Amino acid sequence: MPSYAFFKNQYVPLAEAKISVMTSALHYGTAVFEGIRGNWNNEQKQIYLFRLREHYRRLLNGCQVLRIRLPYTVDDLCRQTVELAQKCGFEEDIYVRPLAYKSSEALGVRLHDIADDYTVFIIPWGRYIDVDTARCTVSSWQCPTDNSIPPQVKIMGHYAGNALAKSDAVESGFDEAIMLSVDGYVAQGSGENIFLMIAGKLITPATYNNILPGITRDSVIKLAKNELGIETIERPVDRSELYLCEECFLTGTAAHVTPVSEIDHRKIGNGGIGEITGKLQKVYAEVIRGDNPKYLDWCTPVYKKQAIA
Ligand code: PMP
Repeated sequence: MPSYAFFKNQYVPLAEAKISVMTSALHYGTAVFEGIRGNWNNEQKQIYLFRLREHYRRLLNGCQVLRIRLPYTVDDLCRQTVELAQKCGFEEDIYVRPLAYKSSEALGVRLHDIADDYTVFIIPWGRYIDVDTARCTVSSWQCPTDNSIPPQVKIMGHYAGNALAKSDAVESGFDEAIMLSVDGYVAQGSGENIFLMIAGKLITPATYNNILPGITRDSVIKLAKNELGIETIERPVDRSELYLCEECFLTGTAAHVTPVSEIDHRKIGNGGIGEITGKLQKVYAEVIRGDNPKYLDWCTPVYKKQAIA
């Protein structure tokens, strides 16, 4: 089944969505992107796009920082994505990648006097961290501060640092890197937020610890409170707390809730999936597939329901 893109204001086969090597964003990292999952529900023969509006709000926040002007509202962006997903017609888990970028074919480091453009494409995509429990390592590569590259929005250039961390980790035999902020506190994975269970409470780095405030992070905070009665404390996290916590997991659109079994060769808990982590994994998996009626307002259906005769 072919993938499609929304490109230069029309829907085209993905293979036809091509940009010039002169494109400004390709040289200077001046783009913002999103990663959105569409989760296939086999019983309902439906794909649910998870928290679509929140993703596009974050995309437009990134545009505001990078001075990218798009002629679209959050509603327009949501509508285009649903149309694009319908056009693709996949019957499996999908991944939506919107990209707003400095599009002039011109060299020179700047944000001003450069045209802007927007594209979004969809591909089928299964597991991102392809293990049941992840072995992690603290990276020597640090997360930029808000005064270097603002981490609270998904700026493309930011990900060069995350790629340094990820590849070092993977090529050293780990599944994911945990990055610290420049002041030495735990920040996040290369593409995930991080949570620890300490003395019956969930702990996660705060936005002032130079993290991307993840949409999965927000969902997990709400699910932990509403479904398990567990509060989450957002605060600076010391590196040693990683080694001492009872449970640890990563959250992200791509990674869902991924349990962490080991950090820097230290076993976390019993080295398996922690009790609370397992419960959150289960409730999150139901919610994103549209199987929990309480959270259907987080789920945008792609396909129109067949009328029942
Ligand atoms: N941190 C980073 C650096 C990320 O790239 C991501 C993935 N978007 C996340 C956290 C998790 O964010 P979300 O849950 O919104 O996907």
